[in-house]
Amino acid sequence: MIKREKNSPGRELDSLLKRLFPICRSITGNGVRETLSILAEHLPLKIHEVRSGTKVFDWTVPKEWNIWDAYIKDPSGKKIVDFKKNNLHVMGYSTPVRKMIKLAELKKHLYSLPEHPRFIPYKTSYYKEKWGFCLPHKQLKSLKEGTYEVVVDSSLRRGSLTYGELLIPGKSKDEVLISSYICHPSMGNDSLSGVVMATFLALSLQKKKGLRYSYRFLFIPETIGAITWLAKNSKSAKRVKHGLVATCLGDSGPFTYKRTRAGNTAIDRAAEKALIRSGVPYSLTDFFPWGSDERQFNSPGFNLPVGSLMRSVYGTYPQYHSSGDDLTFVSGKNIAQSLALYLDIIDILEHDIVYRSRSPYGEAQLGKRGLYGAGGSADPKAEIRERALLWLLAYADGTHALSEIAARSGIDQKTLSSAAILLQKHRLLERL
Ligand code: ZN
Repeated sequence: MIKREKNSPGRELDSLLKRLFPICRSITGNGVRETLSILAEHLPLKIHEVRSGTKVFDWTVPKEWNIWDAYIKDPSGKKIVDFKKNNLHVMGYSTPVRKMIKLAELKKHLYSLPEHPRFIPYKTSYYKEKWGFCLPHKQLKSLKEGTYEVVVDSSLRRGSLTYGELLIPGKSKDEVLISSYICHPSMGNDSLSGVVMATFLALSLQKKKGLRYSYRFLFIPETIGAITWLAKNSKSAKRVKHGLVATCLGDSGPFTYKRTRAGNTAIDRAAEKALIRSGVPYSLTDFFPWGSDERQFNSPGFNLPVGSLMRSVYGTYPQYHSSGDDLTFVSGKNIAQSLALYLDIIDILEHDIVYRSRSPYGEAQLGKRGLYGAGGSADPKAEIRERALLWLLAYADGTHALSEIAARSGIDQKTLSSAAILLQKHRLLERL
């Protein structure tokens, strides 16, 4: 189990990060299982295996990929690219190969990043069977003519896709979804920082008593895993009322919140509020249809309100999808700061009250209760308070949270909250 160490924010997160970092993960295979088994030391995860070939909406669960070794030897027999030194050297899902090959032919299978010549790029080919190696551009440029030996000791066979799931039950069956992906090999920020943050978030929520929502945590391979989970849970997915995709949470960059596709849901408001009150630098961006699994959750058929709170956004920092995204680029301390924000968002959601009118057939007669008649009053606040009563009763159908009524009416949440208490006293409103 994780040891509790006081006054060391991030130390425990760091140790989990360091333990998971070396594992060669992909969308399927033993690296995923090993990762999930480590997470299962901390959390009572349910591990699912979905067979290769299973149809999941427009997709098919692919063959399972495993790898043991891979290298390139130069014409003198010296190992110049070695999977065992860095798993990014092999393109993910590379098919097995063992042969002697001329440099010109080899180069067709080599990938580098000319704009970042010292980094090894991260490449995959999940749905087109081929093999490849990734190396620093500097090294690629220095390769001499001759015959090279290439070996990829891998297997691509029918097997299964593995993912982990955890439900922390609350009073309501309505769920908050926290999704992170476990399919990237040795990179710290993209993928792993989200997995580590989600693990500690789950540990923290497990200890909380009286949670209003139930919390579902997914540790899935990106894209195909989210689609697979949705396909297997298409009915129960409707219970997801709010969600966040956790990724890119370990670097030191400012925060970015990517809104849900609808853009004006409770999770959008909660994330913005948490960012404002944390005082950290941040920006907000509307939904865009690339990035991570928010694409699947927000797809029109499901339309789940799932946003994503990140630090530096994927694709925008030089270390992205390369060996530059290593343990010097991320830290447990940064992930701990991200975790604090996630906890605050959850706190806001937990306290965003939903009311239901106890007099929903036509308007309740406020005048006979002495609650109406401030119109023309010298006190402008009295009129706002009266308006607050009307807004609340109009939207108290058991689905609109206080924050939403505040956003619609332009009346601050505090005024609405006191109005709600007044209506409760008059037995016109009940709290759900
Ligand atoms: Zn990625």
